[in-house]
Amino acid sequence: MLKWVGLVGCVVIMAAWGVSTVWAFSWTWPEGAGIRQCGLFYGFISFASLQGPAAPTSMMQGWEVERISTDDVPANGISAHGLVIRGLIPRSPGILRRPGGSNALFIPLWMPLILFAIPTAILWYRDRRPPTGHCQTCAYNLTGNVTGVCPECGETI
Ligand SMILES: [Zn+2]
Repeated sequence: MLKWVGLVGCVVIMAAWGVSTVWAFSWTWPEGAGIRQCGLFYGFISFASLQGPAAPTSMMQGWEVERISTDDVPANGISAHGLVIRGLIPRSPGILRRPGGSNALFIPLWMPLILFAIPTAILWYRDRRPPTGHCQTCAYNLTGNVTGVCPECGETI
């Protein structure tokens, strides 16, 4: 059962990864003098805190889904949805700091993918069963065996 949960988790993460190369998803809310934003884009999950000029009061708040375009980034370096910081599109995990107290944490999706994939692979590996006609304990081929006992390991069949 758990191995299926893991498999579904892996598929969901990979699907999110694929979708996030074309669409950017964000949730934005005001916090103090600035805004905070969670995002999914370019195969990254982002947590950003934008302050001062990086956080115009006109910036859309709430849910936003936008098709990613690299040529709609304005001069201040923040796109309409505030996700793409000019010239600093994430290529690696880490924390990005901008003058004025803005910063963003980027977590690449391969990190949660590995967290799901490794235990899932182990569960699937441990759950593999010898084919029918073979001993389920030691995988010995029992073709023609009528004794009811595996001659290899002594297990009752
Ligand atoms: Zn056996």
